Amino acid sequence: MKILFLILVLGLISCGKPLPQGGADGYTGKTVSWKGENIPVKFHVNREYYNKYRSHFEEAQDTMVSKSGKQLIEYVISTDNPKTIVDLETRRAEKGENWIVGKESLDEFPGWEGARGVTYSWYGSENSLKNVRIIFNHPNLSGSKRQYRAFFLHEMMHGMGFGHYHEGASILSYDWLYADTQEITAVDRELLSRRYSFSLDSDYIKDLEFIGSQIEAMEVAEMEDTLINYGLSNERAQKLGKLMNSYSKIKTKRALTSREKDVFTKELTGLSFKKASSLLVEEGYDALVEKASEVNEADPEAIKELLSEIL
Ligand SMILES: [Zn+2]
Repeated sequence: MKILFLILVLGLISCGKPLPQGGADGYTGKTVSWKGENIPVKFHVNREYYNKYRSHFEEAQDTMVSKSGKQLIEYVISTDNPKTIVDLETRRAEKGENWIVGKESLDEFPGWEGARGVTYSWYGSENSLKNVRIIFNHPNLSGSKRQYRAFFLHEMMHGMGFGHYHEGASILSYDWLYADTQEITAVDRELLSRRYSFSLDSDYIKDLEFIGSQIEAMEVAEMEDTLINYGLSNERAQKLGKLMNSYSKIKTKRALTSREKDVFTKELTGLSFKKASSLLVEEGYDALVEKASEVNEADPEAIKELLSEIL
């Protein structure tokens, strides 16, 4: 009888729903995202609340990263402690603040009821995120650290603009969220790196040398093909491709001299390295793109797309 019972228990444990296995390619959810000027996204949080759940806040900050490893979120820790929806809405509407808060007991956020965690989003034009508010409903969370951890990461993924993904091995899937392994998965990392490839607005790329090093990392043949695909003439594509190739070879041995940087930047943008750098700082990425598109006789949008492809 005991053995029969044991077998029955084992049977029940093993017949749980299998976790979804889909990869990032299958994601068909929302396509909104934060744009460059808002990255890293600033989330306001009360100091006491932050300290209480610090490991979760830190984990989310460490895992919400762009393709190149840039931190996508940061916290503004304050003594401010909004505990009603009106408080939060005032701060959002008047100061544009995004908040992460917890309803830690039933009398906080009166009238507000939510699941264990809820993310509210406000959108601007062109699928851009303008504001996000995340509220955790502690009376509804089981109280276990593990569950809070999973929901924290799940809501933060919503906060970065992702919807649910039920077919994927992702924290965005409920199956995954409620399973034992409750953490950011490889699929989630891939989703983040695709959505935040530094491609859309690159205001925060102020360093030409960084751009240069990324470009050089690309294979030349692929480079030429890409250049041609983006509307550059065969001649321009070959010239730029070759230059990038020889510079990437030099880079494996030593740093580029300022003369070499000059030649490369001039070829790409028509400007010296110094001039291009100051244009980037003073007038921004768009101005540089504009310049590069003139020199290469390609549409600015194509150049932008090309740079984002390369970056
Ligand atoms: Zn959700």
